[in-house]
Amino acid sequence: MTRPAPDQLSPAVFLDRDGTIMRDVEYCSDPKQVEIFSGVPEALVRLKQNGYKLIIISNQSGIGRGYFSEEQFWFVQDAIARKLAPAVIDAIYYCPDKPGGRSTRRKPSPEMVFEAQRDHGIDLSRSFFVGDKAIDIQCGRNAGVRTILVQTGYGLQKEDTGAEFVAREFTEATDIILEQLK
Ligand SMILES: [Mg+2]
Repeated sequence: MTRPAPDQLSPAVFLDRDGTIMRDVEYCSDPKQVEIFSGVPEALVRLKQNGYKLIIISNQSGIGRGYFSEEQFWFVQDAIARKLAPAVIDAIYYCPDKPGGRSTRRKPSPEMVFEAQRDHGIDLSRSFFVGDKAIDIQCGRNAGVRTILVQTGYGLQKEDTGAEFVAREFTEATDIILEQLK
């Protein structure tokens, strides 16, 4: 594969999944548990219309812990894709590893972001990471992208995550991103 020229690279919004675009139910393994936050499909469409690729970056240690299978993970992911329509996610990168091991991919490692950068021709200097936990913000910072903490899911914890921006929810994070284009 030839590397795209710099002017052909796209910006991306890297999205945490649980607690950021949908309710965090802890180890979601059943499509019936999928509850997308209000306004998220429309917000994703706005980002796409402005040239952003949409890439989910998710730790799924429930797989590594044996709580659910990769097949169940993909059943859930299919339900999410249906509920996000008409928005289309360009790619999902997930890490099944348990915390505390020697994972090289689990957030806050930036490795999944770098995989996406290589696979999809992403310009990290114009990209954002949106998530509800400190490890999301650390992952984004480790990858060298701008960061937004959403106060849904775990984001209501008032710890200082070092996020560049704080948004009440994903739709507000979208407003922040699009405001930077002006
Ligand atoms: Mg989360």
